[in-house]
Amino acid sequence: MNRQEIDILKNQVINGNQITANEAISLSNTKEIEYLCNAANEIRIHFTGNYIDLCSITNARSGKCPENCKWCSQSAFHNTDIEIYDIIDKEQALIQARNNHKKGVHKFSLVTSGKTVSDSTLEKLLEIYSDIKKEMNIHLCASMGLLNKEQLSKLKNAGIVHYHCNLETAPSYFNNLCTTHTIDEKLQTIEWAKEVGLEICSGGIVGMGESMEQRIELAFELRKIGAKSIPLNFLNPIKGTALENANPLSDDEVMITIALFRFINPDANIRFAGGRNMISHLEEKALNSGINAALVGDLLTTVGKNIDEDMEQFKKLGFNTNKRK
Ligand code: SF4
Repeated sequence: MNRQEIDILKNQVINGNQITANEAISLSNTKEIEYLCNAANEIRIHFTGNYIDLCSITNARSGKCPENCKWCSQSAFHNTDIEIYDIIDKEQALIQARNNHKKGVHKFSLVTSGKTVSDSTLEKLLEIYSDIKKEMNIHLCASMGLLNKEQLSKLKNAGIVHYHCNLETAPSYFNNLCTTHTIDEKLQTIEWAKEVGLEICSGGIVGMGESMEQRIELAFELRKIGAKSIPLNFLNPIKGTALENANPLSDDEVMITIALFRFINPDANIRFAGGRNMISHLEEKALNSGINAALVGDLLTTVGKNIDEDMEQFKKLGFNTNKRK
């Protein structure tokens, strides 16, 4: 696809029309990668302005997961060197929420390992949310696997705004990566979350052996489920997992993926999430190619970037780090 054709599709998106899967595939084959990225940046500015949406997470239950997701250091199928604990100490979770809030991070989520949580575990997590809510005005999110509608409703009633459930990869590729649960189960949880009034945060991990067409398929599926927060993770192969030897994406593949996620989901918060260390040399470019959100601070089992340094970088690149009104 040449510059003129990229411009036509960019204007189509800015005017509120969607591109098709075939058009996205043609865009992915362009030799004009920088031009494509600049066009994605224009779409980002048109739909989301210069705000950057910042969230943080804490691992509220770590490890010993009976599921076999090939990428995950918390799966009991893998032999990794991670900390293992049951539900996080309430005071510890409060300290983390407080620290993130003080630094100006907009959102905070408890995240648990495992396919789901029991009702009794959910009650304990709800107590933590209740204490956080009493102390600070921070937007609350939750990521607890495949919950049922009643459990999701309890989260909604407790003031949680976003429910996070990553599709992880394209529907056509999912069972190459996990066989203990299905993408249909994820889609069901997401549907129930929407039905009880939760907003959806859902994204995936790229660099797990999928094709560019499958990355595009994932981006369209995320559009279909109405995800307006899309964490985009770049696989950080962890020693001891089934994907420990996965080849990293090329720089061009990374940049094309980011730009296409923006073309396909023009008004979503497309969020830097895991694996930023894998693409640290591309960070500035990525923030000018469609990314407008970031998961800051530590991740689930890996240490993240210093939040103050992140904030400085975002401001230097012209982003407004205040919470969007
Ligand atoms: S991604 Fe979630 S469900 Fe899969 S192994 Fe890791 S913790 Fe378990």
